[in-house]
Amino acid sequence: MGIATINPATGETVKTFEPLTDAEIEAKLALSQEAYRSYRRLPIEQRAVWMKAAADIVEQESDRFGQIMTLEMGKTFKSAVAEAKKCALVCRYYAEKTAEFLADVQVETDASQSFVRYQPLGSILAVMPWNFPFWQVFRFAAPALMAGNVGLLKHASNVPQCALALEEIFLQAGFPEGVFQTLLIGSEKVAGIMADDRVQAATLTGSEYAGASLAAVAGKQIKKTLLELGGSDPFIVLETADIASAVATATTARTMNNGQSCIAAKRFILLEEIADQFEQALVEKFAALKVGDPMELDTDIGPLATPDILEELDDLVRTCIQKGARVLYGGAPLSNSKGNFYPPTILSDFPPGTPADREEFFGPVALLFRVKNIDEAIALANNTPFGLGASAWTADKTESDRLINELEAGAVFINGLVKSDPRLPFGGIKRSGYGRELSIQGIHEFVNIKTVWVK
Ligand code: NAP
Repeated sequence: MGIATINPATGETVKTFEPLTDAEIEAKLALSQEAYRSYRRLPIEQRAVWMKAAADIVEQESDRFGQIMTLEMGKTFKSAVAEAKKCALVCRYYAEKTAEFLADVQVETDASQSFVRYQPLGSILAVMPWNFPFWQVFRFAAPALMAGNVGLLKHASNVPQCALALEEIFLQAGFPEGVFQTLLIGSEKVAGIMADDRVQAATLTGSEYAGASLAAVAGKQIKKTLLELGGSDPFIVLETADIASAVATATTARTMNNGQSCIAAKRFILLEEIADQFEQALVEKFAALKVGDPMELDTDIGPLATPDILEELDDLVRTCIQKGARVLYGGAPLSNSKGNFYPPTILSDFPPGTPADREEFFGPVALLFRVKNIDEAIALANNTPFGLGASAWTADKTESDRLINELEAGAVFINGLVKSDPRLPFGGIKRSGYGRELSIQGIHEFVNIKTVWVK
């Protein structure tokens, strides 16, 4: 696929972009290295001034940036504006916290003085997905730049205008040229850039395939990577749960971002006693959602980002149905439209061996499972290659303790929606990836943790 803006609501190609030539890539790598030499020496206070300016820009122009996001990847305009505003939070968080997070840590040893000092690594490559085209980039860039690194963004090929707007924000905020650059390139250029001596490390958010490809090249070069990959998050509802609240959150958790979120609840694991009640209420909620033009403020679900994603999701749902799963709501793409519209869908009663067991459903499709007790719920929740987030609903403290301890995931939310928050670390285990973004752990990923020992 070329680099282009294609409106997912209409199928119209709005604008195409020429990828950078090899000479242009070379110039950007050279500029990145040049910028790093001086940028790394600047005080944190100076970087914080620029990071706060970036926060102001993304907040003040959230409508403009929201329109670009909706145009390129189809999320509802209201959620796109909210995404732009959330980016300001992460900028301000690291502008305020970096001095504390990167302060020397004194350690008593046999030395007269020994301590840990955090120093930047250099140019960090960020390979990013289209689904949260601003937030994913800001949650990398805010800590990385505050720590004194410089960034090279390879964004997904379907969001080039977002990618260019992001570079413009950091320049306008005052960051020196070369500190944050967008590379308009296809994924075939990533391996060469990763192998370049001027690139020190990389972060990738995306599919398992892309993550494994990048990590393989990085491994050969002994370079650090951080991977944020897919998920098939469980949403467990036990007998004592507040069902009304669980159903309302389940609806949001499965359909936000048109169902295309790594931490969307995808597998709903229901205790038999409450399953009928939950199922019926969820069908009612899904039936009330409005699918349509993502620019309209009352639209709940816009189009999927690309025709390929629609086709993949449709294949998964069809296979489940052919193998005997039951359709409670939806179940086929909307045919009366040029865009990539897929309705909210609920499937249940899966015989063994359907894709519901192991695949990530990247669209508004809820998979319902029934279990007899908490042991079965935990076993089913963990029976997946992924380990990103998990949401579990119960009023019982003993059950809650077990869920926190036994669920195999990078995050467990009890009686709440799994979400990212600058103050809390974010990341997965198993095939959902490794490393953490956000919070103090996030800024420590791309620094040299230098041990200093003075006799
Ligand atoms: P994707 O196809 O893997 O694309 C992600 C990025 O990787 C894009 O920039 C893409 O570039 C690039 N890429 C693709 N193949 C590559 C390769 N072989 N080598 C290097 N780079 C490559 O994923 P997606 O469809 O955009 O995103 C959906 C996936 O991301 C889902 O699995 C979702 O769960 C996951 N995700 C995870 C998180 C998290 O935090 N864990 C957050 C959001 C999304 P091109 O566009 O040019 O192909």
